[in-house]
Amino acid sequence: MVEGPGDVYICTNCTDLCQNIFRQERRRVDRGQPLFSSIPTPRHIRDFLDQYVIGQERAKRSLAVAVHTHYKRLMHVENEESEVELDKSNVLLIGHTGTGKTLLARTLARILNVPFAIGDATTLTEAGYVGEDVENLLLKLLQAADYDLETAQRGIIYIDEIDKIGKTSNNVSITRDVSGEGVQQSLLKMLEGTVANVPPQGGRKHPEQQYIQLDTTNVLFICGGSFVGLEDIIRKRLGGSRIGFAGGGVTKISEKDPVLAKVVPGDILEFGLIPELVGRLPIVCPLEPLDRAAMVRILTEPKNAIVRQYEHLFKLESATLEFSMDALNKIAERAMERATGARGLRAVMDELMVDLLYDLPDQDNDGVTYVVDGDAVDNGPSLERMARRNKESA
Ligand code: ADP
Repeated sequence: MVEGPGDVYICTNCTDLCQNIFRQERRRVDRGQPLFSSIPTPRHIRDFLDQYVIGQERAKRSLAVAVHTHYKRLMHVENEESEVELDKSNVLLIGHTGTGKTLLARTLARILNVPFAIGDATTLTEAGYVGEDVENLLLKLLQAADYDLETAQRGIIYIDEIDKIGKTSNNVSITRDVSGEGVQQSLLKMLEGTVANVPPQGGRKHPEQQYIQLDTTNVLFICGGSFVGLEDIIRKRLGGSRIGFAGGGVTKISEKDPVLAKVVPGDILEFGLIPELVGRLPIVCPLEPLDRAAMVRILTEPKNAIVRQYEHLFKLESATLEFSMDALNKIAERAMERATGARGLRAVMDELMVDLLYDLPDQDNDGVTYVVDGDAVDNGPSLERMARRNKESA
């Protein structure tokens, strides 16, 4: 309890509540005008995505259009006279782990200035079982919007690992499959648009609780998954049509072809997602696997690229850090061995740099340029070997 003058007290819950009200008010005043005074064009959205995400051209285009349309649709809803109803177009991102699915969704939320929440389909269970209720995803969105219901209802939710809630029949467990049908059904409702009862504290629902009613009609859902095995299904379909034809029609698809780019909804059905779910994710964006060149670009180009971050760290110690092309290629190769996509880059770099950063502050760094070359990557870097002194200070 916080004590005021006289016999006035206010509890922590109420101070939190008041703070949120103030914050909401302030935002409303700041905004001054409706949320959608100008809709970013697909080109504008894409240009912004380019600053953070390397490659994935097709996914960027599809997402940019989907989001632009989503905004248009929201304006449409506000403008009640219009006769045509625009359907909501939730997006499905398909691509190997670490190829930028979450990054795309997160970057989108940044440009759009709408609240953004990330959830994981594997942790979702049917109400009443251990795990998260589907509604907790909405709670995260609400929290991201500082409990401003209006704003939350226009947010974006990214649901990762959507491919892991496959058909119940694929489950070998003999016990009740708690992440099966029930979860899919609640997810479906949410994706389509429903008024959900969100428990304000999260966690289990229980009868005495007061719920917040959140309408998901205008929430944009982006689902992502790596769909391991989907490529085989696509390959089989593409190659399969030739089987039986004269001349021994052998499939012409090599291992290296970006097979995912040829995905059609039927493949996703065969993979095991239920038809209703596939139907509610009308926009399917396959992401390309990242090759070495893309990995090197990811190391160096994005606004917050790892190499840039390390260069900055060295600058803070009055030193200059440089990487040779050879070194970057080797780092990219080593990261690719980990098969975790671009996520491996961070791990490889951190491993490489830890000893250098440990010793760096103890050196006389004025006018020194440290060059990481291929040899340093292969045999472990050392500051002494890497140091190149500028002429004037040498
Ligand atoms: P996932 O596809 O598994 O969701 P993420 O989007 O979380 O992968 O990517 C993991 C990390 O790898 C990101 O934080 C980002 O730093 C990097 N990354 C992955 N793909 C790209 C890309 N196309 N461009 C730039 N960075 C990327």
